[in-house]
Amino acid sequence: MLLEVKDLRVNYGHIEAIRGISFEVPEGSVTALIGANGAGKTTTLKTLSGLRPVRSGTVVFDGADITNLAPYERVKRGIGQSPEGRGCFVGMTVRENLDMGAYVRNDKAAIAEDLERAFTLFPRLKEREKQVVGSMSGGEQQMVAIGRALMARPRLLLLDEPSMGLAPKLIQQIFSIVKEINDQGTTVLIVEQNAAQALKLAHHAHVLETGEIVRSGGGQELAGDPAVKAAYLGGD
Ligand code: ATP
Repeated sequence: MLLEVKDLRVNYGHIEAIRGISFEVPEGSVTALIGANGAGKTTTLKTLSGLRPVRSGTVVFDGADITNLAPYERVKRGIGQSPEGRGCFVGMTVRENLDMGAYVRNDKAAIAEDLERAFTLFPRLKEREKQVVGSMSGGEQQMVAIGRALMARPRLLLLDEPSMGLAPKLIQQIFSIVKEINDQGTTVLIVEQNAAQALKLAHHAHVLETGEIVRSGGGQELAGDPAVKAAYLGGD
């Protein structure tokens, strides 16, 4: 098991955003957390990357307890995040953003390899290497955010709503790139409001409702579950 989350609770002041969730991310898998606005998806990812403190519970990554580890230590251990709203450095070029993703590393040859890999996954970024990110489209900025996360050579890639705000054609493209990243060996934990697409891709999935996991199963299995269909897939 690459990631094990046990009875995690996270608060914002008195608001209980995450109310005791437990789930695992098997090595090599795509695991999805789906849920509506405010269900706690972003909070879960922020907690896993060390940006929110836990109230109680544990997070174990690759056998080690990382519950209270600083964010950069987690990046070093192999947890990379592409945050919600993309979080690109908008005043910097594509290339500079990608370089920033490798800031915890100093293995120059391997970094150069990963840059090539990012450009192969996203040929558009190669074409736009010198363009300032703030002048790019939403879909292109999403590509930069994922590319930047990959530059840390993560073992676990955390993706926060990569399809948000994108046109349908681009959504397809982003999901097929996520599949390719996984096929190349990176484990993925994805949170999505776009349940239909996320479940298609996910080996394992969990439904989050007001801070609790209310259903778990295989991606296909949940996609066929009548309650999930009614609540998240627009019925039959
Ligand atoms: P969305 O898709 O809208 O981002 P989400 O499933 O990612 O939704 P979270 O953003 O994790 O949900 O929010 C979970 C709960 O925590 C919500 O009730 C939200 O209002 C609350 N919350 C999130 N951030 C804060 C904050 N900074 N201060 C107070 N409450 C917060």
